[in-house]
Amino acid sequence: MQTNELLNKISRIPRVNLLDLPTPFQEMPRLSKCLNGPKLWIKRDDCTGLAFGGNKERKAEFVIADALSKHADVVITTGDIQSNHSRATAAAAKKLGLKAILVLRGKKPRNYSGNLLLDYLLGADMRFAQVDWQEVRPVMEQIAEEVRKEGHVPYIIPGGASYPVGAVAYVNAMAEVLTQANEIGIKINYLIHAAGSGGTQAGLVLGNKILRTRVKILGICVEPGGDYLAKKTVEIACGAAKILGLEEIVDMNDVALIEDYVGQGYGVLTKEVTEAIKLVAQTEGVLLDPVYTGKAMAGLIDMIRQKQFEKSDNVVFIHTGGTPALFVYNTRFQSLW
Ligand SMILES: *Cc1c(COP(=O)(O)O)cnc(C)c1O
Repeated sequence: MQTNELLNKISRIPRVNLLDLPTPFQEMPRLSKCLNGPKLWIKRDDCTGLAFGGNKERKAEFVIADALSKHADVVITTGDIQSNHSRATAAAAKKLGLKAILVLRGKKPRNYSGNLLLDYLLGADMRFAQVDWQEVRPVMEQIAEEVRKEGHVPYIIPGGASYPVGAVAYVNAMAEVLTQANEIGIKINYLIHAAGSGGTQAGLVLGNKILRTRVKILGICVEPGGDYLAKKTVEIACGAAKILGLEEIVDMNDVALIEDYVGQGYGVLTKEVTEAIKLVAQTEGVLLDPVYTGKAMAGLIDMIRQKQFEKSDNVVFIHTGGTPALFVYNTRFQSLW
């Protein structure tokens, strides 16, 4: 399918206008040179333009529109204490006059910093719950029930907005980055991104398949559980295809998740991640985050050192945001100096 035809299909899906798109698409010549690697590019989805930016904001344009189409006035979602998705949801909800209830998995800390401070400033209703992610759905449903009793209409957004509605945003992002690459006359060989709850990769691989572009999309896992995530990614992508009215079926062969760089698990800052963050900051002036993009960049740097790319390859790194969490890791950064 041609890009225009795909964009036409996307334009028929409910969407609110929250962002300044397209996000910048930039070259990273000093980083490429320093690593003696392929041509490196960065897609700045940290610059979406609302409350510190990130991939969850792209998703929010479709997610909030879906909530509004169902006459919701309260959105309920969940995430880790330092969830970027929760902050993005809170900001998007406020911009459209909705109430946001956040079920934050973990203990209420004494001081609010990073995303938590932003959730507070954005006026989100923050509910701390010490439950696993597998047990959080009933907690949100219980809250939805209370909201209904108070005469409001709730809409539950799954964690990370990783469900078909949210993934449509990354089908659109795929079309966007391909258009930008086309305009400057380059062909993208690889797209590298951090993979967490699957929605980003689902949208990218579906877009890649629809447009028959054959870009190699590699998701670097930020936590263990790649097999589960691969299955979930396929399901989300197939659901997004359906929303777009397409038969295009994504299967396990389209999904590429790399589990080699999980390190010590979700949110644990390691020396490799710290070094990746510092290298990109000091060669390109771009700040990555400690949980997602720093880890994905550490993976990319290692793959370059292992000579997994040709010198002539154009490798695009998607900066999916998350920078507010940097400030939460100040002492950890200092201990790894
Ligand atoms: C959520 C998140 C990701 C992962 O995206 P998924 O769609 O959940 O896989 C990557 N980077 C940042 C900064 C995120 O907040």
